[in-house]
Amino acid sequence: MLKSINPYTQETILTFEEETTNDVEKKIKKAHKAYLDWRFMSFERRKNLILECAEVLKKNKNLYAKAITLEMGKPISQAIAEIDKCILLCNFYAEQAADFLAPKEIETEAYSSFIRYEPLGVVLGVMPWNYPFWQVFRLAIPAILAGNTVLLKHASSVMQSAENIADSFTEAGFPEGVFQNLIINNDKVEAIIRNPNVKAVSLTGSKPAGSAVASVAAQEIKKSVLELGGSNALVVFEDAEIDKAVDICIQARFQNTGQSCIAGKRLLLHERIYDIFLEKLLTKVYELKVGDPLDEETYISVMAKEELAEELENQLKKGVEEGAKVILGGKRKAAFFEPTIVINVTPENTLFTEETFGPLLAVTSFKTDMEAIDLVNSSEYGLGVSIFTQDAERAKAMIPQFEDAAVFINAMVKSDPRLPFGGTKASGYGRELSAQGIREFVNIKTVYVN
Ligand code: NAP
Repeated sequence: MLKSINPYTQETILTFEEETTNDVEKKIKKAHKAYLDWRFMSFERRKNLILECAEVLKKNKNLYAKAITLEMGKPISQAIAEIDKCILLCNFYAEQAADFLAPKEIETEAYSSFIRYEPLGVVLGVMPWNYPFWQVFRLAIPAILAGNTVLLKHASSVMQSAENIADSFTEAGFPEGVFQNLIINNDKVEAIIRNPNVKAVSLTGSKPAGSAVASVAAQEIKKSVLELGGSNALVVFEDAEIDKAVDICIQARFQNTGQSCIAGKRLLLHERIYDIFLEKLLTKVYELKVGDPLDEETYISVMAKEELAEELENQLKKGVEEGAKVILGGKRKAAFFEPTIVINVTPENTLFTEETFGPLLAVTSFKTDMEAIDLVNSSEYGLGVSIFTQDAERAKAMIPQFEDAAVFINAMVKSDPRLPFGGTKASGYGRELSAQGIREFVNIKTVYVN
């Protein structure tokens, strides 16, 4: 039995009967059968269905957003923004996919030679609860437009959102089997990857889950894409526009109650602006509206599950034992964790070395550009880094020195359908979004004609 528990009230709001192995096999067969037609469907038809899906999201926005808020505690205004972003994604790929997937002539000595982008078949998406709609859409929309069909194994705690997503595809008029939700726990994932009709898997989630899924895919020689954890740094240099940087850093760390892979978890401050930056930061974080996630004014609410808040509490305890000092917040009540700022965080401290998945900002100071770059790169993760400076040349010189998959200057790291998104090191491999994302689950076919 899978349960949706409202983390704000701790009530079980819904239960879902788990599907059996037999049910899952039937869905895989259906997905494969659907693929055999879907892959030859005209691009125009696929595009129109995706545009229709955007209309369904628009129509049901409040309903879907409320389900997200009830299942995982996301403040309602942010849940609505998440659905809006999915609509943007549908519209973006509907307009761009034909160009991204157009055959490409390559001049050789042949009469004609070119590459074609063809679908692979059934793609399994294993997804997390933190952005229950966005993570799924950013895999499914490009994969489906490319001619694949998709099976979703969502996080077991957000099954209502998973069902809502499947309903949105049905309501848009997609042929049966193009997108299906599986009501299962993670123990059924291995068999699904090993099923010969499943051709590839994309996982967004933690390092242990990524490692487990990628190992099975590797044994089966199947394509995998991994979008894993992160511990992004926010680096503020002495010449930064302080007020602007403070606002951006707060959003980068505290939106979605700190539960974002690309959140700025480590704040690195140049020693010359350390005091003034912290003073302004403290004042503003203290003023953040904390409360009921259904209240439209709320910016920070409960974490998605009580165990996650407990885990963060343990990390904080360890960090403090290792020498860090709490200057704001630090207390937990059930799934609620106070917005927290911790200073004296050394590169060896747990709060620096581990991913902290909640509203906690770990602060470290530095003296030189080289020291800042080393601190950023010392993380095992590599999703992205934000740097704040008014010196464009200085920023430009630093870009190639970061090991991360993204460098944002005077801005927070964010995903955008127009730009590729992914990680290096323990943050995973492969890319989502943009042209690179839609080309992950395709057969790049070489054609040579003489
Ligand atoms: P998680 O525990 O790894 O779960 C993610 C998904 O993987 C869920 O569907 C889960 O199913 C499944 N799963 C877990 N263990 C598995 C296993 N051994 N074999 C197969 N599937 C397995 O992660 P989470 O707690 O939901 O999400 C938080 C993590 O995701 C953080 O580390 C965060 O940084 C990362 N994340 C990364 C990105 C990115 O784009 N890079 C985006 C969002 C989140 P069950 O729910 O049934 O366990």
